[in-house]
Amino acid sequence: MFDYLIVGCGLSGVTAGRILAENGNKVLIIDKRNHVGGNVYDYYNEAGILIHKYGPHIFHTNSKQVFDFLSRFTKWRLYQHRVLSCVDGKLVPMPINLDTINMLYGTNYSYNNIGEFYENLKNDSMDIKNAKDMVVSKVGEELYEKFFKNYTKKQWNIDAEDLESEVTARIPIRYNRDDRYFADKYQAMPLNGYTEMVNNMLDCEGIHVMLNTSYEQIKDEVKYKKLIFTGCADEFFGYKYGRLPYRSIRFEEETLQSEQYQPVGTVNYPNDYDFTRITEYKYLTGQKCPNTTIMKEYSCGEGEPYYPIPQSANKQLYEKYAKEASKLENVYFLGRLGQYRYMNMDAVILNAINFINSTLL
Ligand code: UDP
Repeated sequence: MFDYLIVGCGLSGVTAGRILAENGNKVLIIDKRNHVGGNVYDYYNEAGILIHKYGPHIFHTNSKQVFDFLSRFTKWRLYQHRVLSCVDGKLVPMPINLDTINMLYGTNYSYNNIGEFYENLKNDSMDIKNAKDMVVSKVGEELYEKFFKNYTKKQWNIDAEDLESEVTARIPIRYNRDDRYFADKYQAMPLNGYTEMVNNMLDCEGIHVMLNTSYEQIKDEVKYKKLIFTGCADEFFGYKYGRLPYRSIRFEEETLQSEQYQPVGTVNYPNDYDFTRITEYKYLTGQKCPNTTIMKEYSCGEGEPYYPIPQSANKQLYEKYAKEASKLENVYFLGRLGQYRYMNMDAVILNAINFINSTLL
């Protein structure tokens, strides 16, 4: 008899399982995939390069609590991610900063007068209703069109006008020369990869893991008191109110016989090609070797669920499932899929820690 059955061995399930086990609970974590870690799973490919199977995961947080928690399970490699965007045939810093503007327009703005440039474009009084307004209100139509319009369409297959503002609010507009993709206090990669970190989290008395196992397969066979479900909420309820839409990605991996492919970890392609971005993993992992692996991301509608789609109708549909879930005793939904929320890794972990501490302990 287990105290908890946790469905899904990603960051939500593993964080929840670890805290519960440390508090004396017997926990079974299952996953239908053949590996731990959910979408943060990384491994050495045939060429010997450490890659992320489900696309680049770059850890960053402002939460000391989250950073300290993970630091119990991994050493870190300090890494600050940099992204260039291919616009008008030039590779320029993304998020848009002082240098982006000067490179794009051949201008010579400095800290002292870049404010004047933005001042002419921005509209502080604008009512921000969607992901397009979010950008246009800060930098106007032209920069929106160069950097955001087509990337967003490619990524979501939905116009930015029809997506919630939180989507593009993730990307700041900078008045300085900071060319890091994130500005968080803690930015680092697990020194030996996410899979090792997750294995260390799972290495705890009271935690049992079963891979290649779906909830359907074992729900009637295993005895447990409480269930934490980190899979798709609509699937759990047999899609009774309809399907929650998710965006998926097809990854195209390529190994090149050269030491380096591109000048930074990720290059975004808002207007060219069918892929959204190319990531070169060696930048993220710091691996030194004569060859390199790159990954192109093609967004698609079919496939494994990666992103909940931030539109109000979808949130309303999710609420129907959440209401249904709240009627069930001893069943809890957690994580990006279980709660249908576009969360970063640190938010996923903090969310799981808070949920366990406030509700189950
Ligand atoms: N985005 C964009 N152009 C870019 C980068 C991002 O339009 O060069 C928009 C796009 O809508 C994207 C959102 O900003 O979905 C958030 O980007 P982020 O890089 O945070 O997405 P993630 O890494 O979660 O896929």
